[in-house]
Amino acid sequence: MKKISILGATGSVGINTLKIIASNKNKYNVIALTSYKNYKKLAELALKFNCKYAVIGQKKYFNNLKEELFGSNIKPLAGYKAICEVSSLNVDVIISAIVGIAGLKPTFASIGNAKILAIANKEAVICAGHLLLNKARLKKTKIIPLDSEHNAIYQILQNENKRSIKNIILTASGGPFLSINKNNFKKITVADALKHPNWKMGKKITIDSATLVNKVIEVIEASILFNLNLKQIDIFVHPASLIHGIVNFIDGSSHLVASSPDMKIPISFALSWPDRSVTKVKFIDFIQNNNLSFIKPDYKKFPALSLKKIVANSLFTKSTIIVLNAANEIAVDNFLKKNIKFNDIVKIIKKTIFKFNHIEVKTLKDILSVDCEARLLTNGIIKK
Ligand code: MG
Repeated sequence: MKKISILGATGSVGINTLKIIASNKNKYNVIALTSYKNYKKLAELALKFNCKYAVIGQKKYFNNLKEELFGSNIKPLAGYKAICEVSSLNVDVIISAIVGIAGLKPTFASIGNAKILAIANKEAVICAGHLLLNKARLKKTKIIPLDSEHNAIYQILQNENKRSIKNIILTASGGPFLSINKNNFKKITVADALKHPNWKMGKKITIDSATLVNKVIEVIEASILFNLNLKQIDIFVHPASLIHGIVNFIDGSSHLVASSPDMKIPISFALSWPDRSVTKVKFIDFIQNNNLSFIKPDYKKFPALSLKKIVANSLFTKSTIIVLNAANEIAVDNFLKKNIKFNDIVKIIKKTIFKFNHIEVKTLKDILSVDCEARLLTNGIIKK
């Protein structure tokens, strides 16, 4: 039986992982589940999967969690330190699916203790990917990306030489506003932005998909994970979300990975690696689906796309990426709270990047300090 832990068990990646585990109960043994504040759901899942540890991020919910788990053998824990501690337990696969920079320390803690780190926490990859990858190489933890596009590219590149790659293409659904006139962007509400056409996901990433900041984050993520230049990574809008990634090789061949837009496929790939398992996901009916079209993204309509160039031209690339990420997290949070408009999100990110005193980033401490400073700056910009 494979031992599995899930960081962010009550989020959409966590829930999908547990759905796969539920239909393969004899294959997996759940060790630890964590959640930031959803103690009820966490307790329900912990009992259902009879895990060893259930950890709630917010300490104020510890007693609630303890009560829910009363009479079971599951050990309730609380706080960020406890999340980091259970992250360092020995497992076969750890699913890193905490949203945002909060996932960074637990993800680091898992390296060397998990055989496979299946990572959905893209913020950790873009802010600290170089450190993560180095540590993983040293400690022999295999990193498998769960982001659908990156998982597709990973599948294609498994037995390929980096020198054979010409470029890669990440597809974007275009989000809910692909065919809305730019003049109407001012009027976009939180409810509008939360309606993603193809993927069911958490709130933060759904907003990121609507602004297309998500796609810029993914380009950066791909450049780090696959050690490619930002110029080698293109974005194509592919509204059907059936083809997730394309690799063009120097010999003229293109390899694509296609599947129904369902996170169970990348998750199942990581859980079963190096084998594959049967999932309940529907195959694409290529006869019925004759809409495998691609279009160039509209840079005028989606100013977020220009962030790629800003990062590529920056003298302080790492610092710029961390600031971009922090400013985006704060701006999205304020949009969800209706403090700012949809249109303001990218403007605020750009302002924060340009105003920030960038530094050379080398250590985890540098990353966290740039992140913290950037958040203060963004909050200041929003309050003005
Ligand atoms: Mg993605």
